[in-house]
Amino acid sequence: MTTDSFYELDRGMGISTRSLLILSDIHGHAEVAKILASRYQGVDGILIPGDITNFGKAESVKTVLAALMPNKGVLGIHGVSGNCDTLSARRYFSSLGLDLEAGSFETQELLVIGAGGGLRRAGITSFERNEEELEAAMGPALDAASKKTGPRPRSKPIIVVTHSPPYGTNADLHAGMHVGSKAFSRLMGRYNPEVWICGHIHESRCVSLEDETLVINPGPCALGYHALLELRWEGEGLAPTVKASLVSI
Ligand SMILES: [Zn+2]
Repeated sequence: MTTDSFYELDRGMGISTRSLLILSDIHGHAEVAKILASRYQGVDGILIPGDITNFGKAESVKTVLAALMPNKGVLGIHGVSGNCDTLSARRYFSSLGLDLEAGSFETQELLVIGAGGGLRRAGITSFERNEEELEAAMGPALDAASKKTGPRPRSKPIIVVTHSPPYGTNADLHAGMHVGSKAFSRLMGRYNPEVWICGHIHESRCVSLEDETLVINPGPCALGYHALLELRWEGEGLAPTVKASLVSI
C-alpha cells in the first residue's frame, strides 16, 4: 500500500483523513511489530489495545516500542495494558505517557480513551479485573468524553481502546461462547462511541458494526494479524466516515 493512496491531509480541499494502525496482542514479538510498522509508513498513529508483552517486564515494552517508534506518525503511539502485561511493564508504559487509562489523547479531530486489563477468569494472569472494576475504569472517561463532544454527530469522534472486548459482539467469541465484558457492552450502548477497539480474544477477529459503534478486534499481532482504521472527513459535516479492515501478513 503506498503512502499516497492511504494518507491524505488536505483541509484546504475540504477533505482530510486520519489513518491508524492497530496492533493488539503483540506479546513481545517486536520483530513482527517492526515489520508491520514499517509496512505502513504513512499512517498517522498506532493504537495498541493491550498485551504488549508476554509477561515480560519494562524491557520488553521498551523493545516493542522501539520497533514501532520510527513509524509512529504525527499522532504517535497510544494504548492500554493487557492481562499479560506485568506490573512493571504497565508502570513503564504508563510512565511514558502512552497509557490511555492514565489520560485521554485528544486532537482537534478525535478523542481517544481507554481501559486495560482482562476480564477476570482464572485469576492467574497479571492484570485481571472484575466487571465492577472495568466499569469504574471506563465509565467516567466515556461519560466525560460524551459530555465534551456532545450527542452524535459529535464535535469529534470518540475512539475507545480496551483490552477486553464488549460482551455479545463479534469480538468476544471463544469456543462459540461470548466471554467479553458486560459492563463494556452497557457502556457501549449508553454512549455509542464511534469506534471500540479491543483485543484479548485472539480467535475473534472482527470489524463489526454493533448498533452505532464500529467494533474492531484485529487479532494477535504476534501472528501477523492487524487492522487499519481510517476516518475521513468530507465537506462541512462534522462526522467522519469511519472504516476499518482486517489484514494479515
Ligand atoms: Zn493476548
